Amino acid sequence: MTLTAGVVAVQGDVSEHADAVRRAGEACGRETEVVEVRTAGTVPDCDALLMPGGESTTISRLLWSEGIAEEIVDHVEAGKPVLATCAGLIVAAADAGDDRVRNLGAVDVTVERNAFGRQKDSFEAPLDVSGLDDPFPAVFIRAPVIADVGDDVEVLAEWDGRPVAVRDGPVVGTSFHPELTPDARLHDLALFEAMDGATHSEDREEPTPDR
Ligand code: GLN
Repeated sequence: MTLTAGVVAVQGDVSEHADAVRRAGEACGRETEVVEVRTAGTVPDCDALLMPGGESTTISRLLWSEGIAEEIVDHVEAGKPVLATCAGLIVAAADAGDDRVRNLGAVDVTVERNAFGRQKDSFEAPLDVSGLDDPFPAVFIRAPVIADVGDDVEVLAEWDGRPVAVRDGPVVGTSFHPELTPDARLHDLALFEAMDGATHSEDREEPTPDR
């Protein structure tokens, strides 16, 4: 079965996510069609969604004005996987503590925008992620901190004692940018493994990082 992955493409790092999901698909032998989500009507045809980083105030404004926001909420309520990264996570969160961001409430976390930015605007860190055998090279760019997590949210990774990757039902959210490294394991974890419960079995091979 071909997986249709929609990359929310109203603003932000769209092509990097499209490439990463293709690589993750190839690594686990799944045919993947990538579509860009710019208007309403595309999300209902998607099996999985990617919400890229960029500028959360702009992304949320366009998602609501285009009528895409409600479709993403429906997608999540239907239990279909989403990977939301950086600004994508800020928009998907329950609360971003900023009136200019209208949240989707798809991930039960509270975030603080640019909270890692005060120390350093961007940095890379090897991150232990629950479900991955080896550390993941995480690129943080003016990243949000996940300040609070709801009861049903699983923390997948922490940096500096704070959650930076979480799972809430079908949604995986990261403060960092997994699409900016050649390593597609997080796309695999969030989208392909989630799509196919059977793939959690012992005999499934984790895609080898291509680096
Ligand atoms: N600082 C951005 C925001 O708050 C997010 C940065 C990113 O996605 N790399 O929207």
